[in-house]
Amino acid sequence: ILTIRGLQKSFGDNHVLRGIDLDVQKGDCIAILGASGSGKSTFLRCLNFMEIPSDGEVTHAGKTIGTERPGKPRAYPENELTKVRQKVGMVFQQFNLFPHKTVLGNITEGLRIVQGKDKASSEARAHEELARVGLAEKADEYPSRLSGGQKQRVAIARALALAPELMLFDEPTSALDPELVGEVLNVIRGIADEGRTMLLVTHEIGFAYHVANRVIFMADGIIQEEGPPEQVLKNPQSPRTQAFLARHK
Ligand code: ATP
Ligand code: MG
Repeated sequence: ILTIRGLQKSFGDNHVLRGIDLDVQKGDCIAILGASGSGKSTFLRCLNFMEIPSDGEVTHAGKTIGTERPGKPRAYPENELTKVRQKVGMVFQQFNLFPHKTVLGNITEGLRIVQGKDKASSEARAHEELARVGLAEKADEYPSRLSGGQKQRVAIARALALAPELMLFDEPTSALDPELVGEVLNVIRGIADEGRTMLLVTHEIGFAYHVANRVIFMADGIIQEEGPPEQVLKNPQSPRTQAFLARHK
């Protein structure tokens, strides 16, 4: 459902992504590993066009974004980007909930604004997703009264409510106290088991091993190694991957 070719991104002189190629199949759960600053977040943000790539093509469901213009930088037309953004859900390390809205309000916002649903159907949809993440009884709470793990589960429910074709998770458990990590990973595992397509940046190597069907190791702006978890995590070929895993035992 997603093909990435020659994806590059620079911030000024900082050439962060230097040509990423990847094919994502429906139902893939792909774990992305890499050192801090290796461009993992930038990569995810380029896939929903929160960052506009400097070069390369992203093909979503057969539609290629990033048009070649002879002699000029590649163009990313805004109307195409908007369509893709609606099909891609994203969950961040810092939850990014609206503090002045209730849990229910956080989830219905996108349904009403982005999808134009009415109040009743947005709320019904929100309750469905809250039940899925085990927070049915928290609909009327404000985020400040939730634990980090609960906030992250709300953020996941909010993304899922929009029925994305692709879910992007950027270190969804890194900001959590250790005892809260499990509840969020369990929700993510449930979503993966349903066969949803997802890319997940994580330092939870054990989780990646058990849940992902493919693992990617990024360094120096490219994919250094890619394959099934047993191969990349237990028998890495690249010295860079070996060194990274040795530090994250
Ligand atoms: P971490 O594991 O710490 O989250 P990461 O692999 O996600 O790291 P990125 O956040 O993608 O790394 O950052 C990669 C590089 O791009 C860094 O050098 C960072 O300073 C730079 N960078 C990221 N976003 C921006 C931005 N909006 N403007 C300028 N530079 C940026
Ligand atoms: Mg990051």
